[in-house]
Amino acid sequence: MATGFLWHEKYMWHDTGSGSGVNIEPGEHFENPETKRRMKNLMDLSGMTDKLVRLDPRMATEDELRRFHTDEYIHSIREKSDALGGFAGPNTPFGKGSYEIAKLAVGGTIVATEAVLSGNVDNAYALVRPPGHHAERDLGRGFCIFANVALAAIHAREVWQVERIATIDWDVHHGNGTQQAFYDDPNVLTISIHQDGLFPSDSGRVSERGEKEGENFNINIPLPAGSGHGAYITAIERIIVPAIRSFEPQLILVPSGFDASVYDPLGRMLLTSESFRELTKIMLSLAKDVCSGKIIFSHEGGYSKRYVPFCGIATIEALSGIDTGIIDLGGRDDLPGQELMHHQEILIDEIAKSVVTPFR
Ligand SMILES: [Zn+2]
Repeated sequence: MATGFLWHEKYMWHDTGSGSGVNIEPGEHFENPETKRRMKNLMDLSGMTDKLVRLDPRMATEDELRRFHTDEYIHSIREKSDALGGFAGPNTPFGKGSYEIAKLAVGGTIVATEAVLSGNVDNAYALVRPPGHHAERDLGRGFCIFANVALAAIHAREVWQVERIATIDWDVHHGNGTQQAFYDDPNVLTISIHQDGLFPSDSGRVSERGEKEGENFNINIPLPAGSGHGAYITAIERIIVPAIRSFEPQLILVPSGFDASVYDPLGRMLLTSESFRELTKIMLSLAKDVCSGKIIFSHEGGYSKRYVPFCGIATIEALSGIDTGIIDLGGRDDLPGQELMHHQEILIDEIAKSVVTPFR
C-alpha cells in the first residue's frame, strides 16, 4: 500500500499574528505553525516521512478558486495580502503573502486528490495550512481563507468526472464551508461530526439537511461537549457507515482536524491518539468497501502543540499500515468519559433515524 504525503515549508509561513486584541497581552494566535510543524517533525524523526510517497503542492489558479469563491472575495484577499495583510473574516487574520500560501493549500489538497484518483498512490494525507473547512463563498471564518476540501471535491467532479463524492469532517468544529459548497448538490454527500454549538455557533444543527436537489445530502452530527471514544465510534458506526454504504461514493475526502482531542484548548471533547487511529481504520475499511480505498485527508484544526503530533502520526500509521513504534506519552485511554453514555446514545440514535436513505 502506498500512502502519499503532501507538505510544504511555505505552509508554515502563513502568519496569523500575535492573537492580541485591545484587552489581552500580545502572544501567539491559536492557529500558528507549531502544531503542524511538530507533527511533521515527529514524522521525520520516526522515519515515517521517508516511507511515504512525497507529494509536492502547486498553487491553485484563480479560476479554480472561482469554482466556489466570489471574484470580489478572492481579490480582496489578494489585495490585502499584497499590502501588509489583514482579515479574511472574523478571527481570521493573515500576513503579507498569505494569498499565495492559501492557494498552495487549495492546490495541495487538489494534488493529493489527483494522486489518489490517478492511482499513483492508494490514499493520501495533505498536511496543509491555512485550514479550509470554515471558508465560505465570500467570507473567511475560523482561521480558514479558501475552502481546500470543497475545491478539491469540485475539481474531482469537473476535471476527473467523479460522479459521487463524500466528505467526512471530524474536526471538532462544524464544516460550514464544505456544507455551503454542496448544500443543493446531491452528488456530494457532506457529513460533519462536531461538538454541538461550538463554532460557528449558528450552524451544524441536525436540521441543516441540504436544500433543493441536495435535500438529505447533508448530515450533521452535533455531539454534546464531553463526548469521548465510545460516542464517536458509535456515531460513526450507526450514522456515517450506513450513509456512506448507501451513497456509494467513488471518492472520500476527510477534513481532518485533531481538535476533538482531550488536550485541545479550543474543543471540549475527549479523543486520544488511539481514537484517531481507530477512526482512520474505520474510514479506510469503509473506503476499501465502497471506492477501492480512494480516501484523502486534508489537515484542518488541532491546537495542542503537545498532542497534535501524536494524533497525526497515529492517523497516518493507520492510513499507511506503517508502525513507527512511537509511543503516545500523552495518551490517557483510562480517562473517564470514554464509554458511550446514555444521553449520547439517545441523540445518536435520533440522528441515525433522521437520515433519509437509501440515497440511490
Ligand atoms: Zn476545528
